[in-house]
Amino acid sequence: MDTERRIAAEAAQGFMPRDEGLALYHHAQSVRADGPFLEIGSYCGKSAIYLGTAAAEQGRLLYALDHHRGSEENQAGWEHHDASLVDPATGLMDTLPVFRQTIFNAGLEGTVVALVGHSVPVAASWQTPLSLLFIDGGHGEKPAHDDYESWTPKLAGDGLLLIHDVFPDPADGGQPPYEIYLRALDDGFVEVDVVGSLRVLQRA
Ligand code: SAH
Ligand code: MG
Repeated sequence: MDTERRIAAEAAQGFMPRDEGLALYHHAQSVRADGPFLEIGSYCGKSAIYLGTAAAEQGRLLYALDHHRGSEENQAGWEHHDASLVDPATGLMDTLPVFRQTIFNAGLEGTVVALVGHSVPVAASWQTPLSLLFIDGGHGEKPAHDDYESWTPKLAGDGLLLIHDVFPDPADGGQPPYEIYLRALDDGFVEVDVVGSLRVLQRA
């Protein structure tokens, strides 16, 4: 399947604006480091299409890590809840079936590898250096900082770090993604690009 058709197959469900998705795709295309890509937080597969399309073009894999039970804001009673994503057998959110369908529709089953589990324990046994890390998992204080601490050491020296939902003004959104972005700058990453709430960083 060609790039145009893949990106057109992008899932309707998802919180990523198109300009930010296209920025994911373009930056992923420019990665020079060796190794696979990994995203934390896949939900219904929207960001995985943009990153996976670039990965497929370069013969890389994209590991798409999510427990598929949703973040806090996806649960019943919260702003980003979608009742059609609740599994009646368990009463819990389950985005894995929609995610699989999204990846199938995009022709990316050979490229996007789902890792169904919790971010921190998966990181604990992860050894392969990553050429690109996209952090878009839990946005609470602890999950965001845990993801930053667990996964940034896995990034290759010249790899790209992307962080989503960075809102410097608290009026625009929660602060933990912004806090880990500030940590990254403090830890010697430099900013390569800003598109909406997406930040693209690389080690200096
Ligand atoms: N990147 C997606 C949106 C991700 S939404 C897109 O742009 O299309 C955030 C996702 O993070 C949710 O699906 C939730 O299940 C997942 N998540 C939250 N905390 C997690 C954790 N600790 N481990 C694994 N996945 C987690
Ligand atoms: Mg996001």
